[in-house]
Amino acid sequence: MGNIIAIVGRPNVGKSTLFNRLVGAREAIVDETAGVTRDRHYGKTDWNGREFSVIDTGGYINDSDDIFEEEIRKQVKLAIEESDLILFLVDVAEGITDTDREVSHMLRKVTNKKVLLVVNKVDNTQRYMEANEFYELGLGNYFAISSMNGSGTGDLLDAVVTGLPALVNEEEEEDTLPKIAIVGKPNVGKSSLANALLGEERNIVTPIAGTTRDAILTRYNKFGHDFYLIDTAGLRKKGKVTEDLEFYSVLRSIRVIENSDVCVLMLDATLGIEAQDINIFNLIYRNRKGVVILVNKWDLVEKENKTLEDYKEAIQRRLAPFKDVPILFVSALTKQRIYNVLDEVVRVNENRRRRIPTSTLNDVMLPLIEAYPPPSVKDKFVRIKFVTQLPTYAPSFAFFCNLPQYVKEPYKRFLENKLREQFEFTGVPIQIFIRQK
Ligand code: GDP
Ligand code: GDP
Repeated sequence: MGNIIAIVGRPNVGKSTLFNRLVGAREAIVDETAGVTRDRHYGKTDWNGREFSVIDTGGYINDSDDIFEEEIRKQVKLAIEESDLILFLVDVAEGITDTDREVSHMLRKVTNKKVLLVVNKVDNTQRYMEANEFYELGLGNYFAISSMNGSGTGDLLDAVVTGLPALVNEEEEEDTLPKIAIVGKPNVGKSSLANALLGEERNIVTPIAGTTRDAILTRYNKFGHDFYLIDTAGLRKKGKVTEDLEFYSVLRSIRVIENSDVCVLMLDATLGIEAQDINIFNLIYRNRKGVVILVNKWDLVEKENKTLEDYKEAIQRRLAPFKDVPILFVSALTKQRIYNVLDEVVRVNENRRRRIPTSTLNDVMLPLIEAYPPPSVKDKFVRIKFVTQLPTYAPSFAFFCNLPQYVKEPYKRFLENKLREQFEFTGVPIQIFIRQK
């Protein structure tokens, strides 16, 4: 459960350069192990042990020089709504522009979260002096940095970490009911599903102020189920910004995904699985949340023999390598199978919390490893001697061996597949670490 910081500012001030400096190097490593395509505008990082996400808002809009003022205004508005801390980036080489003034005007009204003014491209002492002019924006002290050479970014990160709201104790959170998020691109049927599930019950449920942010949680307590639904419909009403653009639905997804334990990812059966669906799926995967996929509007699909199986396989091919995911075919409109969704969500949440005793793990996994050991490298043999599950939020396993550097991605995938075959982890991402014994 991290916090989100957003970088805003007009084109060419250096947002993506700063983003890369903050999360670039680390992300490259994480993604290599996960085998996931890198997102250039959203990443996780940490500073002094505090983990948070960084969003380069510019990356999601048409970031050209002739950008409409209106687009920037939307970008800033969304950042204000959806993040916990805002970095407002300006460019010392260009000086103050009208757009900078307009953005400052919007940001001066923000009272419930930290806004840090960051003067970029301060590459030398001359520019350090020139940065003084930005006091005029009325945002108080600024941070002078050079995203290019890194100077000043350490102080900036210190201030970011101090400025983030306090997080709820993870252990306390572990005891509470699972938090379910319904996500998907616009018009797939998210509100229809929430309404179908909650129905009239909605006005007797207790809205509870969010934990890490003010997301609206609705307690769902019906048909033997008990959990929180993150009310995306409620969130949406707050901001009146149009949702057609991918950027907005991605930004909103990030926030609800980070707040959740299990995500219900909805697709539109008439459209099939599209790039934007995969983007959201990857966000869920990278946040190590549980996931259930719903192919909604199934009532609109002409059914022949095998349609369902074909459809399922087509989706799984796109999800690979993480394809051990429940896929349900539903209709929020006719309510067909929507109650099965709840059973799947509960099952996935149990899988996320599953803890395999070390002795069982070793009894099961070591013989499988012996039967199919990692390939030898330069006549050296890798011997995996011990495996244990780590006490993390989502399942992760450490395999101890003599030569960890020789265990490559395909073999890690083999280990993950075996774990999935032997134990039930459907719907949850698994992490594999190879360590020196
Ligand atoms: P964005 O449009 O806000 O994402 O800006 P970019 O990160 O793409 O940067 C725009 C240009 O400014 C690029 O040519 C960068 O190399 C350059 N730039 C970014 N940061 C710095 C910096 O700290 N100093 C200097 N001199 N140039 C920078
Ligand atoms: P959201 O933007 O994801 O919240 O989507 P909505 O719940 O607002 O639904 C978008 C449109 O799809 C609305 O016109 C719904 O009535 C329609 N819709 C939602 N679910 C279904 C379904 O299962 N079948 C059909 N035929 N239409 C649906």
